[in-house]
Amino acid sequence: MNPALRRDYLAALKLEAWLVRGSIAAPLSAVPVPVAVPVPPAERVPAAVPIANGGREEGADWPELRARVAACTRCALSSTRTQTVFGVGSLQAQWLIVGEAPGAEEDRQGEPFVGRAGQLLNSMLRAIGLSREEVFIANVLKCRPPGNRDPTATEAAECLPYLEQQIALLKPKIMLAVGRIAAQNLLRTDVTLGRLRQQVHHFGVSKVPLIATYHPAYLLRTPTDKRKAWEDLKFAREVCARV
Ligand code: SF4
Repeated sequence: MNPALRRDYLAALKLEAWLVRGSIAAPLSAVPVPVAVPVPPAERVPAAVPIANGGREEGADWPELRARVAACTRCALSSTRTQTVFGVGSLQAQWLIVGEAPGAEEDRQGEPFVGRAGQLLNSMLRAIGLSREEVFIANVLKCRPPGNRDPTATEAAECLPYLEQQIALLKPKIMLAVGRIAAQNLLRTDVTLGRLRQQVHHFGVSKVPLIATYHPAYLLRTPTDKRKAWEDLKFAREVCARV
């Protein structure tokens, strides 16, 4: 990417260029790409286990899958949602971005990652040279949990087969799990997000490379962690280039 353009995107993320002490701003091409830190054996993240309901939506094409989600009453969230939030983006996308669940605005609009968090996600994507239209964006849950509470294990288990079939149809090169809840549900682990970051995980039977990072809503509350998110995005881009 053009260095000047990338500087603009970093400015949109409110990330200043890194400075070498006592010198001018380092060129972005000189910014070190973070590498995965080896994790001691005792701290290794458990391998993703097959999803219990995997295959439940097998065979459904995009229109059929969309219709099944729209009509779904598998869990209690069907009675409190305004509408389901299927996902949005290119059906040829190489990147699949997965969040936790729709919030109030997403529930109203029927689209994931709208509002301020959505704008920040768009800026994060632009920072690595991707537009929102080039990726596919979905959530673990297709319906909003009331009060934005965390999804229950039952809700996630009931809803994950839809995401699994989206992945089977999309065949993404890489998945970016944004936020602790998404990462923990996708990887079937309770390991903290801090320890899931900066490692290449693999999702499901197709073993799609998966990188975990912070949720843009969290970054709006904790802007000091934007730099870590930027490191994660660069790491994900590097992993994607290797696939
Ligand atoms: S959250 Fe998922 S499983 Fe529950 S009703 Fe909505 S679409 Fe169905």
